[in-house]
Amino acid sequence: MRLRKHVKEAGRKIREIRMFARAMQSDSHPILVQMVPIRRCNLDCSYCNEYDKVSNPVPLDVLLGRIDRLGELGATIITLSGGEPTLHPDLDAIIRRIRERGAIATLITNGLLLTPERIERLNQAGLDYLQISIDNVRPDDVSKKSLQVLDLKLRWLAEHAEFGVTINSVLGAGVRYPQDALAVSRRARELGFSSTVGILHDHTGQLTPLSGEQQQVYEQFRARKSSLFSFAHFDSFQDNVSRGLSTEWHCRAGGRFLYICEDGLVHYCSQQRGRPGIPLEQYTVDDLRREAARVKGCAPFCTISCVHQTAMLDDFRERPRETLAGILDRRRAVDPAFQPPALVGMLSWMFLDDRRRGFFGKVLLNALGIKSKRAARAAGTTGR
Ligand code: SF4
Ligand code: SF4
Repeated sequence: MRLRKHVKEAGRKIREIRMFARAMQSDSHPILVQMVPIRRCNLDCSYCNEYDKVSNPVPLDVLLGRIDRLGELGATIITLSGGEPTLHPDLDAIIRRIRERGAIATLITNGLLLTPERIERLNQAGLDYLQISIDNVRPDDVSKKSLQVLDLKLRWLAEHAEFGVTINSVLGAGVRYPQDALAVSRRARELGFSSTVGILHDHTGQLTPLSGEQQQVYEQFRARKSSLFSFAHFDSFQDNVSRGLSTEWHCRAGGRFLYICEDGLVHYCSQQRGRPGIPLEQYTVDDLRREAARVKGCAPFCTISCVHQTAMLDDFRERPRETLAGILDRRRAVDPAFQPPALVGMLSWMFLDDRRRGFFGKVLLNALGIKSKRAARAAGTTGR
């Protein structure tokens, strides 16, 4: 089991590098797609506007068709969210199809329905990552996603999961005891999981600044070391969000990030539903390009960190030297002894120099079996 887990982990890292290389080569495929297989949820967190109590699961054949279409558009990561996706009776088949389409498969769940047997089936299906948000230590009227309720599930995950597990703790409006976020994070690390902190947004995805005590807790998270793809910790967006400040950035939702609702419509994100509101089966590379380029008025105070993270990949592609230097400078302002993870060091050496970028870009893509843009155009296989 341990060996199999390590082998799977190595495979995931290779596919992450592949995702990164592809994001560096192409400016118009979706890097990250969030897809809703069921809108129903078995909880009712008071801050949430993303669930109902009545919806049926989206039929399997419909979901498989959507995944195939996302594969044609070149999506590299597909995240299943909800509602509560583990309520879908065909979850394993959905994950399997995501993997067959070459994308990284991730799942956001409240964890309530996890059992050793359910975790085994997620292993078999090929799930890459699972994320649980834990809002407090003890359940209250805001949220039942509590360490006390979920600790047994976390132990089962530690024992059985062959996929990566991230525990997200939260700060912001509605969080009564900010210190709970640290307790959640400590427990996550004890069990060998990654730990992140998210800042709760209001019902439109916009910002509420952290209180003094919450800000102190956030600073403790910020001072910690993190892994290569945990950009949030390197990220000036999060710092501004925590202080209630606006951020200048270009949101590429509708292009690099897609939110596919249960009706199969493409939206910018969970908080901007209805725009552009085009059915996925009609969505084209032109739509991806147009919407990625569109300036969104909600961007300055947006808190949707996964869209910020995809934007960072584009910043890196367009201005690698400045983006990486900015990330490292910010990190060293918090921790002067900070050394970037080895993989970041290697990638920066490969991609920061113009000559090396061309050479290693081709080598990496060939090694990973990805066609370059020029080769793909010559073969007439893609508009990306
Ligand atoms: S568990 Fe998640 S989807 Fe369900 S109500 Fe809470 S935040 Fe919303
Ligand atoms: S800026 Fe982008 S990600 Fe943020 S709320 Fe607006 S559309 Fe959504």
